Amino acid sequence: MATKHSKAARQFQRNKEKAEWQDNTLWGVRVKRDRMSKSLDEWEELRNLASAIKRHTISHLDEYLEKFAENAEKNGVTVHWAADAGQFNEIVLEILQSRNVRKLVKSKSMLTEECLMNEYLLKHGIDVVETDLGERIIQLLDQKPSHIVMPAIHLTQEEVGQLFEEKLGSEQGNSDPAYLTYCARKSLRDEFLTADAGLTGANFGIADTGEVVVCTNEGNADMSTAIPNIHIAAMGIEKVIPDYNSLAVFHRLLARSATGQPATTFTSHFRKPRQGGQMHIILVDNGRSSMLADQLHWETLKCIRCGACMNTCPVYRRSGGYSYTYFIPGPIGVNLGMLRDGKTYSDNVSACSLCCSCDNVCPVKVNLSEQIYDWRQELKTLGKEPSSKKVMSCGMKFIFDKPRLYDTALRCSPLINAFISGSELTGVHLWGKGRNMPEFAKESFSQMWKKGKVQNDK
Ligand code: SF4
Ligand code: SF4
Repeated sequence: MATKHSKAARQFQRNKEKAEWQDNTLWGVRVKRDRMSKSLDEWEELRNLASAIKRHTISHLDEYLEKFAENAEKNGVTVHWAADAGQFNEIVLEILQSRNVRKLVKSKSMLTEECLMNEYLLKHGIDVVETDLGERIIQLLDQKPSHIVMPAIHLTQEEVGQLFEEKLGSEQGNSDPAYLTYCARKSLRDEFLTADAGLTGANFGIADTGEVVVCTNEGNADMSTAIPNIHIAAMGIEKVIPDYNSLAVFHRLLARSATGQPATTFTSHFRKPRQGGQMHIILVDNGRSSMLADQLHWETLKCIRCGACMNTCPVYRRSGGYSYTYFIPGPIGVNLGMLRDGKTYSDNVSACSLCCSCDNVCPVKVNLSEQIYDWRQELKTLGKEPSSKKVMSCGMKFIFDKPRLYDTALRCSPLINAFISGSELTGVHLWGKGRNMPEFAKESFSQMWKKGKVQNDK
């Protein structure tokens, strides 16, 4: 039976030109990542270190979070704790409403996507403006990100040109990337100047100093916090790391893995409120503590959201971000979705050929494919085992448990060659499209063995 993912993937593949363009573009990023990683002799050592630091921090999360919060408060920052998405949204709204904020500018944050913060604030009359170029494009289109680092990767420059023509009044037919960036910059400048508050995500929270670190290529996190007087930083609790030495390890891995750059253009450290301003850090759990308690899958929390696993994944590259049912697509999204709600997002586990490429590129060594394999074993418990596979497995078990019946079935199998040999297997499973049924051999291995037709080399 076709899963939601495979149906959506087929839809994506209908536009051959675009599908090929996305595949090639993402592969290009993967190649750049390879070049960058190979330029460092200590690359594998860095990956081992990053994985060990994350394992250590996540397994001592309570201690590091307390230390982080204590140091942030010493710096004059107000620290809030949100148990779930609902609480997170309420805290943000309360901060904004109590200070009469009407407009919020924000830099990219997948956590706010996870909590559906924009929708919540807009419902309460607060204007939210995305300032990352990709995020702004999809906001103008009322779409969701299709990639965690390149949220508008599913769009061509011509489509963006047309959008800007309609929404920003850019020149007709001009889809030159430099020109379009200039148009976005110009319109965002007004938003920065008129916003009352700025919100950023947090790539890392340093326990030793209580500061958050935000990595961007456009400087929009700095713009979002340099002009408005109120800065809110939204941070998932797994983002805490011990100290500057740890940051040095992650910093060398993040941009190289994400986009093949030695470092992001801007790495901004926010430690305390600006003079006369306010800074709030909201530490969000939203299911992370339960993920931590999952013995098989807790290492997913090591993820630093570089997107490298998506760029390399042959399934993601050829099916697009919107074919997955969880808001984070690709290998990491398959796993996070299952951790979030296995019953709702189980369709995505079929979006994997178990090629292991994601494991090999992940800078923090999340064992993504192994976990996807494990999730597949859990489908039965979740009541999500595909019925066709269940029938086939039961049939196989029935025959394999009865050697005589198995032998008879093998002996009779050449009889059906005339009917099915060479026919396409589409009717059996989608995988069969383009694959033909092979012929059954006239004699089984066992019959040949008995007749001495098989040589035993020993
Ligand atoms: S193992 Fe699966 S999820 Fe990972 S890259 Fe290969 S196909 Fe994609
Ligand atoms: S799982 Fe690894 S490769 Fe994938 S986004 Fe996270 S850190 Fe990057």
